[in-house]
Amino acid sequence: MSMFKDIPVDVGVIYEGERIRRNDMQVELGGPTVKQKFELAKVKPLNEIEDGKITIIGPDLKDMKEGGAYPFGILIEAAGAKLDAGLEGVIERRIHGYLNYIEGFMHLNQRYDIWIRIGKKSFGKGLNSFEPIGKVIYRLFKTELPIIEKLQVTFITDPAKLDEMTPAAIQAYESRDAKARGLKDSEVDTFYGCALCQSFAPSHVCVITPQRYSNCGAISWFDGKASASIDPKGPVFAIPRGEMINEEKGEFSGVNEAAKKRTMGEVNQVWLYTAFDHPHTSCGCFEAVTFYIPEVDGMGVVQRNFKGAAVNGLPFSTLADSAAGGRQIDGFHGMSIEYMRSAKFFAADGGWNRIVWVPKEVKEKVKDFIPADVVDKIATEEDAKNIDELKAFLKAKNHPVVAKWEAEAAPTTEAQAITVNEEAAGTMMPVATAGSLPIMAGGFKIILKDAKIYANKVIIQTVKDEKKP
Ligand code: SF4
Repeated sequence: MSMFKDIPVDVGVIYEGERIRRNDMQVELGGPTVKQKFELAKVKPLNEIEDGKITIIGPDLKDMKEGGAYPFGILIEAAGAKLDAGLEGVIERRIHGYLNYIEGFMHLNQRYDIWIRIGKKSFGKGLNSFEPIGKVIYRLFKTELPIIEKLQVTFITDPAKLDEMTPAAIQAYESRDAKARGLKDSEVDTFYGCALCQSFAPSHVCVITPQRYSNCGAISWFDGKASASIDPKGPVFAIPRGEMINEEKGEFSGVNEAAKKRTMGEVNQVWLYTAFDHPHTSCGCFEAVTFYIPEVDGMGVVQRNFKGAAVNGLPFSTLADSAAGGRQIDGFHGMSIEYMRSAKFFAADGGWNRIVWVPKEVKEKVKDFIPADVVDKIATEEDAKNIDELKAFLKAKNHPVVAKWEAEAAPTTEAQAITVNEEAAGTMMPVATAGSLPIMAGGFKIILKDAKIYANKVIIQTVKDEKKP
C-alpha cells in the first residue's frame, strides 16, 4: 500500500537504489544524451513562496513519447524563519533521496548532470504527470526537514525556459563551491560523512572535509555542517577528526573509525589525499573518475559526460565500473570536479605533477587551480588520443613524470616473472593479503575475508601483451 493514498505508486525507502533499464523505461529526463538539465534549491523569503504549489513549465510526462529523452529541470524553492542560503545545497541534495523513494523512479547524479528514468510499469499505474511527483517531494521535504515552513516545486521541460534558467543555476553552484575554498582540513576539528549513496553502494561513505569535496560534487564541508545540524539523524553526520595519523596521505583516526562503523567493517582505513593503497571509496554518482596509467606512471581523469574513450582506450562507464560500488581500488578513484581545485588533490601522489591527461572541458574548468609550471604539460584529448601519443606529448613537454621514467628502470612491456622468496624453509610466504578481497565472477561478488594468497611464482603481465598473438 502506498505511503500516500492519492499517489498512484508506492513510496518508500525500499525503492532507493532501484535501477530502471532502457527497455523498462517510459521516458528519460536529462541523462547523457540531453544537454539541458539541472536541479536547484533556492531559499526565499516566506512571503514569496506559495506553500504546496506545483508548477509544470513545458510538456508533462503524459505528453512525452515512450522511450524518449527530454530536457529537464527541477526548482525547489523553500522558506522558513530559520532557513538561510547556506542550506540550499543540503535541500538540493535531498531531491536525489526523495525522488528515489518513488516506485519506478530512478534519479542519478546531481546539479547540472541529473539523469532520471520513469519506469513503464509506474507510468501505467498512473504516474503520468509531474503533479504526483511534486506532491511526494513536497510532503517528504516538509516531514523530514521541519525547518522548511513553505515549499513550492517547479518542473521545467520547456527548452527555452531551461535556457533562460540554467545560467543562474550554474552561478549558484559556483558561489556555493567558492565559499568552501580557502578553509584547510587542519583548521577544523570536525569532518562530515554522508551515507546517502549506501542504497547503491552499501560499503560507501563519503568523507567530506574542507579540502575534499563529496564525490558527487554536491556537498561541501559547509553543506555537511549545515545538514548535520538541522537533521542529525539524517544521512549526513559529523565525524570528529581525531588524531592525525599520516599528514601526507590524509589519514585521521576519526575517519577510520567512522568508515569502519558506517560500512559494518568493510572499510577500516581511508587515506583522503591519495588514489592508492587505502583510497576513499567510490559510490556510483561521482562526477569524474581518475585512473592510473602504468605506461607513464601518471594519472588521467575523465568526467561523466565525456564522449568516447579516454586516453587508455576505455570510456567513462568502464572506468567508473572499475571504481564504483563502495570499493577501494588501487589507482581508480571516483571524485568531484571541485576536489581538483583543492590543494590536497591527490597531494600524496604528487598532485597535479602526477596528472597527465584530462579532457579539455574539465581542464578549462579547473585550469586556474593547476600550478602554472605544469598546466601546459597536461595533455587533453586534442593532444593525445592513445598511450603512444601521450608518451610522446609528455616527453616533448617534459612533464614531471618523465623525470621518474628516467630515474627508475624503464618499465618493460615484456612479461615479468617474480620469484617468491622461499627462504622460509619450504613454507611459502603469502604474496597477497587483504582484509577484504572482492572477486567478481558470473554476476556474483565473492568476498574473501582476511585472505592470504600463496604462489610459487607471480607473473605480472599487461593485458595488452596477453592479447598479442
Ligand atoms: S556522493 Fe557522497 S556526498 Fe554525495 S550523496 Fe552520495 S554519499 Fe552523499
